[in-house]
Amino acid sequence: MTTTVPLHQPLDHTDRPVPSVLPVPPVSPDVSVFEELESEVRLYCRTFPVVFSRAKGAELHTEDGRTFIDFFCGAGSLNYGHNNDFIKHRLTDYLASDGIMHGLDMHTVAKREFLARFAELVLRPRGLDYKVQFAGPTGTDAVEAALKLARKATGRTGLIAFSGAYHGMSRGSLAVTGSRRARRAGGVSGQDVTFVPYEDGPLGPFDSIGFIERLLADPSSGTDLPAAVIVEPTQMEGGVYPASREWLRRLRELTQRHGILLILDEIQAGCGRTGTFFGFEDAGIVPDIVTVSKSIGGYGLPLSLTLFRRELDVWEPGEHTGTFRGNQLAFVAATAACELWQHGSFQAGVARAAGRLGRFRAELAALDPALAVRGRGMVLGIDTAGAGGPERARSAQRYAFEHGLIVELCGRHDEVVKVMPPLTIDADRLDRGLAVLHEGLRVR
Ligand code: PMP
Repeated sequence: MTTTVPLHQPLDHTDRPVPSVLPVPPVSPDVSVFEELESEVRLYCRTFPVVFSRAKGAELHTEDGRTFIDFFCGAGSLNYGHNNDFIKHRLTDYLASDGIMHGLDMHTVAKREFLARFAELVLRPRGLDYKVQFAGPTGTDAVEAALKLARKATGRTGLIAFSGAYHGMSRGSLAVTGSRRARRAGGVSGQDVTFVPYEDGPLGPFDSIGFIERLLADPSSGTDLPAAVIVEPTQMEGGVYPASREWLRRLRELTQRHGILLILDEIQAGCGRTGTFFGFEDAGIVPDIVTVSKSIGGYGLPLSLTLFRRELDVWEPGEHTGTFRGNQLAFVAATAACELWQHGSFQAGVARAAGRLGRFRAELAALDPALAVRGRGMVLGIDTAGAGGPERARSAQRYAFEHGLIVELCGRHDEVVKVMPPLTIDADRLDRGLAVLHEGLRVR
């Protein structure tokens, strides 16, 4: 599996010139088949009512010729951009060679290469001696596996999760997800789960660690010693709240002292989104269990991993199984994506783009000091709570869409504009997207 594609390709992902004039809103696309046949549960297509046909780098194209800059990236699944050429050539070579496409969890060449490269380029350089479990193809199954393993390894059932957390839509993951609406839809009562406010949130900072200490120290607190604490290093759906390094360190120290497993959910904030491969890295902690999905598949292909300390591998064969664990094409793409990390040019490009996002924060502060802007690396959350609220966020999103930019909202009431360009975005498109967003927040 060799390729002659230059490594710089992902940083300069398209040979078409950046259009100088923004696209004009089109006539209504034909969406009748979706409306007639697709369930009411569909979501994103309601905010972005076009029909997409192609994509490249940081751009999405519709069947009727519109172009959008993508600041949403498949909810964090496309950190390396759309149809990244370096990864694509590996995939097309693999398809052309009739490489195995479905292998359950049998040994395959593609899986062997992924495991070897992932250990060499991601785990070992960070001093992480983890076993790798391939979960079913979505993030929520990596979380299910993590929670099951924590309960099995400790013999305890309780969990601590954080207000504002999002961990997925299957029952176990929903039980540790903060949203009342999502838990109600899933018929999940939250039994066995104690929710604690995160370090920061819409109601202000909170001494989460002190609170957990107190729950554990008081024999009548009503909370039993839990199997695990599950936490996102940056809460993304909750409204882009990055945890401080100090808070993560204290959480690690507390959980260690009490024999509670610490699960880091890296599904959305991981794979470089916040500047380092793992969001917990610069806190200098080693979690017991880590869940990874979304951009680990490199190309938007489904792949989900649960990583854990070797001693925690108490699974018996087949105790957490699934037909689509280990998508072979995703292994090929993921191997190539890991290789991007060894190249200084890739990391320098990400640092440059993150620097531009940092300057955008200052531009927003000049535009309206009442906007609260949070973020780290290649994610920003622009919080309108004290500056017009969800209606302003929604109208900025609408303006952006009408002017060729896809951007999503998050937070408790969709009051936060979440800015997540591809890590590989070029300076022109990043500037243009940010200019549209700035204007969308300015006009009211
Ligand atoms: N954890 C986090 C932090 C997430 O952001 C998500 C998805 N938004 C999930 C878990 C669930 O992943 P999936 O939608 O692939 O099941």
